[in-house]
Amino acid sequence: MAEYSALSLLRNALSGNKDWKPAWRKPAPKASYDVVIIGGGGHGLATAYYLAKEHGITNVAVVEKGYLGSGNVGRNTTAVRSNYLLPPNTRFYEHSMKLWENLSHDLNYNVMFSQRGVLNLAHTPAQFDDYARRGNSMRHQGVDAELMSIAEIKRLMPAIDVSASARFPILGGLMQPRAGTARHDAVAWGYARGADRRGVDILENCEVTGFLRDGDRVTGVVTTRGEIRAKKVAVAAAGSTGRVMQLAGIDRLPIESHVLQAFVSESLKPFLDTVVTFGMGHFYMGQSDKGGLIYGGDLDGYNSYAQRGNLPIVEEVMAEMVALFPSLASVRMLRSWAGVCDMSMDGSPIITAGPLPGMYLNCGWCYGGFKATPASGFCFAHTIARDEPHELNAAFTLDRFHRGTVIDEKGQGATPRLH
Ligand SMILES: Cc1cc2nc3c(=O)[nH]c(=O)nc-3n(C[C@H](O)[C@H](O)[C@H](O)COP(=O)(O)OP(=O)(O)OC[C@H]3O[C@@H](n4cnc5c(N)ncnc54)[C@H](O)[C@@H]3O)c2cc1C
Repeated sequence: MAEYSALSLLRNALSGNKDWKPAWRKPAPKASYDVVIIGGGGHGLATAYYLAKEHGITNVAVVEKGYLGSGNVGRNTTAVRSNYLLPPNTRFYEHSMKLWENLSHDLNYNVMFSQRGVLNLAHTPAQFDDYARRGNSMRHQGVDAELMSIAEIKRLMPAIDVSASARFPILGGLMQPRAGTARHDAVAWGYARGADRRGVDILENCEVTGFLRDGDRVTGVVTTRGEIRAKKVAVAAAGSTGRVMQLAGIDRLPIESHVLQAFVSESLKPFLDTVVTFGMGHFYMGQSDKGGLIYGGDLDGYNSYAQRGNLPIVEEVMAEMVALFPSLASVRMLRSWAGVCDMSMDGSPIITAGPLPGMYLNCGWCYGGFKATPASGFCFAHTIARDEPHELNAAFTLDRFHRGTVIDEKGQGATPRLH
């Protein structure tokens, strides 16, 4: 712990950070590894960490085209929850929640996990019934869920407009008290440091531009830092999945890439100590520890690989915020940004061996892959190490789309615009 003491912080500040120990090494690529993981986002790094920690596989490289955190892991709005309806998703995301609850301890790195709750607002009787059904299903599977009345919502968030004359009157809500937020880049850094200390090579500024093949079998990758051979190659490239898979000759996947924007306001005194989602549109908001409001909405409605969005969604998101919290009309937005989301056609992820021999695929995270990071890494590592799925990702196959066994979690993942 000495390296993080107040004294060492002061010494480093005064010495121009000369003694600062990097959190992970900057190794040169080796000629070959047991496993190469494409994508140094949360999922790739967590996979490397659990490969080393749970399976003793440490001859691993994570290959990242930019710097760690440059993708969606550093661009999301950090909501963590397990409030799904369908059992495969509920079980998987609840396992993730349990890993989150011990993550700072496990990584010995403060990921600032804050269980401040996530509240879904209902605006029609049918929606309230729907939430009651989802809450029952969650509780049935051992996940916390509470229906909230209008009066309880007002007590929790005095600034919200619960009047009958509101643009979309609120009838109640579904709360998951154990849900919350985490510091997103700390998650990337914590997993990176944990993997590095177990011997994993993290290769930044190393873009995969092709695959090495022996017939159908994938035997390595071609990168901007040279060729790297590997017994197993795992793809965890999130919004770039389509592009990366095209390099292996896989042209058609049940994934669309869409831009998702997010926004942060100027700092306000603390007034919102939960994350709240609007039920009549795609709007949600929380307040960071620094006081800024962090909020977002729906996807931009066209396919894109550009990490920036367009004005119509900005207007839509602001209108939804003011519909819920009229007193925020004069708050200034400070920054906006965007990431590219890998939208699966049923709103559920894909974690599987294949589709080529020697290859493993992790994608389809839609709006919600940040909260999945621990369980995704845990299950993907199991799938890679043992060449069979963990029971928690057994349903998340690629072929479910042509077999017709989709896990259709509408409203949680894929947007209605895509249907
Ligand atoms: C605005 C926004 C808000 C969001 N809010 C939430 C939220 O509140 N809660 C939640 O659970 N989820 C949220 N998400 C979704 C979540 O961020 C993603 O699903 C998740 O981060 C994706 O996994 P990842 O971290 O591994 O992705 P990324 O961090 O995107 O990792 C993929 C990496 O692959 C790299 N890569 C791509 N191509 C190559 C190549 N050829 N060679 C080498 N490397 C390559 C990329 O540079 C990138 O770093 C949000 C997303 C966005 C954009």
